[in-house]
Amino acid sequence: MRLFTIPIAVLLCFFQVVLTTNGIPFSTRAYWMRRANQALGELSGSPCPFAPFGTAVVNHTDTDGFGDLICIGVNQNRQIGNPSLHGEIAAIANCTAILTDPYGRFRLTASEAQAAFADLTLYTNAESCPMCASAIRWAGFKEYVYGTSIDTLVRKGWSQIHISSLEVFQASLDLMSRTVLIGDVLANETDPYFLWQFDPTYPCPDGCLHSGNGTRCRAFTRDELR
Ligand SMILES: [Zn+2]
Repeated sequence: MRLFTIPIAVLLCFFQVVLTTNGIPFSTRAYWMRRANQALGELSGSPCPFAPFGTAVVNHTDTDGFGDLICIGVNQNRQIGNPSLHGEIAAIANCTAILTDPYGRFRLTASEAQAAFADLTLYTNAESCPMCASAIRWAGFKEYVYGTSIDTLVRKGWSQIHISSLEVFQASLDLMSRTVLIGDVLANETDPYFLWQFDPTYPCPDGCLHSGNGTRCRAFTRDELR
């Protein structure tokens, strides 16, 4: 797990089971990272879509610090046709809609909703591209937590704009807000979602198996689970 704060980047290497970052134990971080993975099945229709980028946005500033889920998001490029709808952008849009819903839990005004992001933590199962990392900084999130790194994605064949989140964050010091960056959280569980797409020998994520010529993964059917 890596934790970075602005303006000084600090590399911390501890055993994940005992690490507490920003006052929150690893077990809590793991819970919410798994929640970001689960968003895939809920919003994309498959637990193992080709573009398995999932996000969960959480408020850890509530009473016990465990966290309150505000919204989830997944990559919707193919569903919607909007090429900017990466998981993080979709989640920011979903959260905004939930925060400002006049009949919802929060009923915030637009300006109140914008300010609310300063209390929120964004969990994404893969390091954000520079577009999403910039959006996270513009939103002013309190924390940004990712699993699989961009380096891993590139190494396994994913096309990426190869600028790390840390570089984006270091270039955003003029912004008024500060966002704590925590990387490599639960990467041992997020990596399998991203390692099969360009490697037919790599197994599908849990609950899924190869289909067709091995270039896709699909969920087990009920019969196959018996
Ligand atoms: Zn992105």
